[in-house]
Amino acid sequence: MAETKPNLYDLDLAGLETLVETLGESRYRAKQIWAWLYKQLASEISQMTSLSKALRTKLEERARLAVPAVIAAQESIDGETRKDLLSMADGEQVEVVLMRYIDRKTACVSTQIGCAVGCQFCATGQMGFRRNLTSGEIVAQVLHLERELQAQQQRLTNVVFMGMGEPFLNYDNTLAAIYRLMHPDGLQMGQRRITVSTAGVVPGIRRFTAEDIQVNLAVSLHAATDEVRSALMPINKRYGLDNLFKAVQEYIEKTNRQVTFEWVLIDGVNDTPEQASALAARIAGMLAHVNLIALNPTDGYPGQPSSPERTTAFATILEHKHIPHTLRLRRGTDISAGCGQLRSQTRTQVRPRAVR
Ligand code: SAH
Ligand code: SF4
Repeated sequence: MAETKPNLYDLDLAGLETLVETLGESRYRAKQIWAWLYKQLASEISQMTSLSKALRTKLEERARLAVPAVIAAQESIDGETRKDLLSMADGEQVEVVLMRYIDRKTACVSTQIGCAVGCQFCATGQMGFRRNLTSGEIVAQVLHLERELQAQQQRLTNVVFMGMGEPFLNYDNTLAAIYRLMHPDGLQMGQRRITVSTAGVVPGIRRFTAEDIQVNLAVSLHAATDEVRSALMPINKRYGLDNLFKAVQEYIEKTNRQVTFEWVLIDGVNDTPEQASALAARIAGMLAHVNLIALNPTDGYPGQPSSPERTTAFATILEHKHIPHTLRLRRGTDISAGCGQLRSQTRTQVRPRAVR
């Protein structure tokens, strides 16, 4: 059973102030605790040495710091990708991925254990939905990687919500986590360095449009006709393409921000010239960019990645129609840390490898 004491990571600053007051302390102590959590990256209340011993003891009695336990850690052979399996307080597990690029270090974090959306090709979808993560459990994944990097005098530069789960089906906790990452007295993560990816939950896109933040939006499109998209992504039966594009267009108009469309190329399914043309027709003139991604293999889906020839042919059609696009490199596939390969590996799949 999870403990019932509040997890300090689940509180915003106002919540922490209230907690401190109920302990009979003055509010400004909350700011000190906040700095221990999000600047010094403390992993235990006992480390907060600028607080009196008495206050630390009271805090330990009335609250907890739910730092996830590392169950397994894997590094890709090229050293560019690291995947850690983390255990939450109730034993549920999530994977968090660190991608190292020359100019940035990106954390790929999860918002749910499993996912109810059920996209055919996605390992998380294949495991079904287990539960939402709390805002603190989302933030704790970032803090975990930040601590890892700190040991090497490095820092995270970017956070993408592209791990397990659908962020907009756990909207409140995801946004609370984003605001905590951005907090000026904490991690101070730049808004433009945060990206939320959705499978197309239209009410979530609408709410996101109304937020007053500069966080990036990515939409997992994967098909440009309702027939093909509904077969791949059941959510399309609920929010069809016309509906989805209307919401995305409104987001662009309101925020003036470019939207990224993700497109996983699956051999013979969505890599046809018809799909490329339909995609180009849908997004011509939009402030949008297409990310073409190679399908990563998953146990529960027989589809294959598109061949280099078909990939090039698809990209060439976009090129001719002046649709901005990028072919995303595959990374981390040797440790199943590629997009859509994330799943809780409670059983036997995890073979931990030596990690520095
Ligand atoms: N639920 C959100 C965010 C998590 S999935 C969403 O769907 O957008 C993150 C990205 O990985 C999405 O673009 C998703 O479509 C993609 N993805 C899922 N399964 C994949 C696979 N097997 N190979 C490559 N990308 C995959
Ligand atoms: Fe869920 Fe995204 Fe996977 Fe679809 S692709 S099942 S929305 S995590």
